Amino acid sequence: MTLKERDKKHLWHPLTQHKLHPETIAITSAKGCELIDENGTIYIDAIASWYTCMYGHCNDYIINRVSAQMKSLDQVVFSGFTHEPAIKLSEELIKILPKNQNKIFFSDNGSTSVEVGIKMALQYHFNQGNKKDTLIAFEDGFHGDTFGSMSVSGLSVYNGPFEDFFLNVKRIPTPNGFNHNEILELLKTIVENHAVAGFVYEPLVQGAAAMKMHSSQGLNELLQFFKTHGIVTIADEVMTGFGKTGTFFASDQIHTKPDIICLSKALTAGLVPMAITTCTQAIYDVFYSDDISKGFFHGHTYSANPIACSAALAGIELLQSEAMRNNIKRISDSHIKFNDRIKNHPKVKSTRQMGIIYALDLNNEMERYGNLRDQLFDFFMERGVFLRPLGNTIYIQAPYVITDQQLAKVYATIEDALETF
Ligand SMILES: *Cc1c(COP(=O)(O)O)cnc(C)c1O
Repeated sequence: MTLKERDKKHLWHPLTQHKLHPETIAITSAKGCELIDENGTIYIDAIASWYTCMYGHCNDYIINRVSAQMKSLDQVVFSGFTHEPAIKLSEELIKILPKNQNKIFFSDNGSTSVEVGIKMALQYHFNQGNKKDTLIAFEDGFHGDTFGSMSVSGLSVYNGPFEDFFLNVKRIPTPNGFNHNEILELLKTIVENHAVAGFVYEPLVQGAAAMKMHSSQGLNELLQFFKTHGIVTIADEVMTGFGKTGTFFASDQIHTKPDIICLSKALTAGLVPMAITTCTQAIYDVFYSDDISKGFFHGHTYSANPIACSAALAGIELLQSEAMRNNIKRISDSHIKFNDRIKNHPKVKSTRQMGIIYALDLNNEMERYGNLRDQLFDFFMERGVFLRPLGNTIYIQAPYVITDQQLAKVYATIEDALETF
């Protein structure tokens, strides 16, 4: 029996209606930018397996560091204990984070990093005797699949069974450079009528909304509004973090810095799951008290797992290396040239880019998980390129180590698709 056949017996895959999509592809190995399936077919991983393995799959530098760590300390409770991988990671991360960040809290995945951010914001007010019960978030944002993060996500097409249990969330449009005055008016009405605890947002690029990009200046105006109203700002950089937008973090490109930042995905270079929620000293100070109940009673069993910390440390070292910085520049420049070539194609409705993130919308209307979208996905896979269209949006977010030849193949395959669809 093939792996594909054996898979069907016991496995239940995420985000999948198994009756409509019974087929999976069994991957047996990966290296650099390539995934290899059980038949030996090679695919270029042009979305870095959901933006995680930005330094390439099975990167030797990271593997060596992780295996050394595995031999000395594998796991220890992080409540009451500490260890050097976590300490060193906090030191290195603080060096590259926006300057106002000073404390690091660990969890396991992107959703929990947002969950932690929301709980910190709610308790920040609670500890000061203020009960605030409303959050603000962007329309079409995506923040994860646990209850808090689902509640703030605007993209909730398939969340019907859970909506009655969501937190109170008010939605605002993203700033497009022209509408921030209208948004500010809307915000004034919201804060007059609700006790707002926090604002959760994906800075500059909304990943799951199909790499939708918004104005940094417009966002800055909104962040200033929140600051003056004592509303905690929570930047979800789970997707945008670690170099993808051309800076270490998307928040580096916005004047007003968030109070809280959520990190995961590329944090551990794609090797193991882990997440971090960072915050300012001012947030932390509100939890620091003689009163035990003012502490932050949230914790996951594998918090700050030493192996995951060592993967993150090795990843951050690579990110800061000259080679990786050159790679990021090389990919961004090459996207610009590709864009010049195709932006006026009759099938292309619009294009956008930030750093190594590139997206184009096709003129064809497609449902997010519809038939035409599936045909487009199959078209790419049959040609050895793993791209995962979001409705009629094709986006590239390849590992920084993608070669020029591999990138050329990704572009050529997209151009073929423009002629076919
Ligand atoms: C992927 C993602 C999440 C959720 O992360 P998981 O690890 O899948 O739980 C949250 N926010 C953003 C912006 C993401 O891209």
